[in-house]
Parts: sequence; C-alpha cells; structure tokens
Amino acid sequence: MRTLKLAGSNVPAIGQGTWYMGEDPAQRDREVAALQQGIELGLTLIDTAEMYAEGGAETVVGEAIAGRRDQVFLVSKVYPHNASLKGVPAACERSLRRLGTDCIDLYLLHWRGQHALEETVEAFERLRETGKIRRWGVSNFDVDDLIELDNADCATNQVLYNPSQRGIEFDLLPWSQARGLPTMAYCPLAQAGKLLGHPVLSRIAERHGVTPAQVSLAWVTREDGVIAIPKAVSPEHVRMNAAAGDLVLDAEDLAAIDQAFAAPTRKQRLAMV
Ligand code: NDP
Repeated sequence: MRTLKLAGSNVPAIGQGTWYMGEDPAQRDREVAALQQGIELGLTLIDTAEMYAEGGAETVVGEAIAGRRDQVFLVSKVYPHNASLKGVPAACERSLRRLGTDCIDLYLLHWRGQHALEETVEAFERLRETGKIRRWGVSNFDVDDLIELDNADCATNQVLYNPSQRGIEFDLLPWSQARGLPTMAYCPLAQAGKLLGHPVLSRIAERHGVTPAQVSLAWVTREDGVIAIPKAVSPEHVRMNAAAGDLVLDAEDLAAIDQAFAAPTRKQRLAMV
C-alpha cells in the first residue's frame, strides 16, 4: 500500500468512505465488518461526516473502530450550518460521542455555507487547542476559497475526482500540490456508475489482471498528495480496494485514459455531488 503524509501522519493512499452507511439497520453488521476488514487490509483512513445518515454513519464507524482506535486515522465533517463559533464545538462533541473517541484526527468543513470562514477557522483552532481535533481542513473548496483561507493551517481539501471528473487538474490540483496541500478524492469510483463499465478502463484492467475499479483507484492516486476514499460494503470490494494500493499504472495506461477522458484545457466550475 502506497502511503503519504497527511496532517503530520503517514496515511494510506487509499482509505474508506462511509456515505450511505448507517441508514439501514439491517446492513449495520455488514458495514461494521467491511470497515474492520478494510482496517486489517491497511485501509486505515476512514472518512465520515455528521451528515451521513444524520450521525448514523459515525455510529457505524464508532462500532468498527472500538478497541482499535489507535490503528485508524479518523476524518469527519461538520455541516456548514453548524460551522459557527458556538456550533462547531457542539457538533464536534456529538460526533466524538457517536465515534466513541476523544479526538478526531482531521475535522473538515463539509462545504461553504452562511458562516464566515474566519469564524469557522477560529472554532477549529479552539478545538485543536483543547485536543478535540488534531487538525482541520475543508471540502468542496475551489482555488478562490482556498485563497480566502489566507494561509491558515488547513490540512486538506476533499473534492470530487475520478477519470470522468478531471476538472480540478486545470488549476485546483496543481495549486494545491505547489503548496503541499494534500487532496482527498471523493467518489473515486464515480459511485460505481458508467465509469466502471468503460471499455478503456476494462482493457487496462485486463492487461494488469485487475478490475476497472482498481484501475480507477490507481489512477486517482497516481500522483503524490492525492488520497482516494472509496466506500465499499461488499467484502470483495474492500479486498480489491486494498489491493489497488499496490497497482501502478504505466505510461501506456495513462495515455489511454487521457485519450478516453480528456484532461481539462480551461477552468471548470468545481464539480460536487
Ligand atoms: P464511490 O465512488 O466510493 O463509490 C461507491 C460505490 O462503489 C458503492 O456502490 C460500492 O459498492 C462500489 N464499490 C466499492 N468498491 C468497489 C470495487 N472495488 N468494485 C466495484 N464497485 C465498488 O462513491 P461515494 O459517493 O461513496 O464516495 C466515496 C466517499 O467519499 C463517500 O463514501 C464519502 O465518505 C466521501 N464523499 C464526500 C463528499 C463531500 O462532499 N466531501 C461527497 C461524496 C462522497 P458496495 O458499497 O456495495 O461495496
């Protein structure tokens, strides 16, 4: 598994997402087992949010990491409407309770909302001082938004990125890389839609004896400073996602992907889901 530095820690280039976990009680045991299997296979970065199942995903994560908190790099996110000086610590306390831990490794603003950025940053810094979070970051921020942060101590920006959504390559990704700001790529499998059936990904997968999903993950994480957070409940998917951490695409593969999914040649509006 390739690793990189995030917020002062070594983390795997591939972690685990949790959107849609915690919604169906009948799926809970499978979800907990999937996250635990992922941790055992080295997918030790887990991404969640108070939004997912309105806290339900955090309780699934809490159950999965009980007794193994020290093996996990935990990321959660605050709703924009809670991102005020008073709202942030209250939301963080609720998340900590659901996660069953006393500290979140990386706490993100889920997207920009009505509260002033300086206020949110101030609230994050206070949480850092009290040890409730180790570092903070943002999500769905474009270059202009990051510039507004004005060199504050932001540890990551989590954005949409996969072979069929390459808009960030025009400006946001190089801007972040030049400043040593790691990018967390969400929907790295494009939510298992059409992308995974694309003939070019299938051809590359066949050449390497892997699956199109693994090609997508290797592509997303091909450059240093990008972490992919696929969400998987199926044990086979978890196993394959962990194995993708060792897959390296060659120049021929990358050229084929460039031909099938053109890199942006001008500024694109930041895509979100
Ligand atoms: P993904 O691109 O990770 O796709 C998830 C889907 O892919 C699921 O249906 C899953 O199936 C399937 N899958 C997983 N692994 C494989 C595999 N190896 N082969 C084939 N199919 C596979 O979409 P998400 O929207 O879940 O994005 C990932 C994570 O990013 C989220 O879970 C969340 O943590 C974060 N996120 C953050 C956002 C933000 O605004 N900051 C927005 C969206 C997502 P199954 O579960 O059945 O195994």
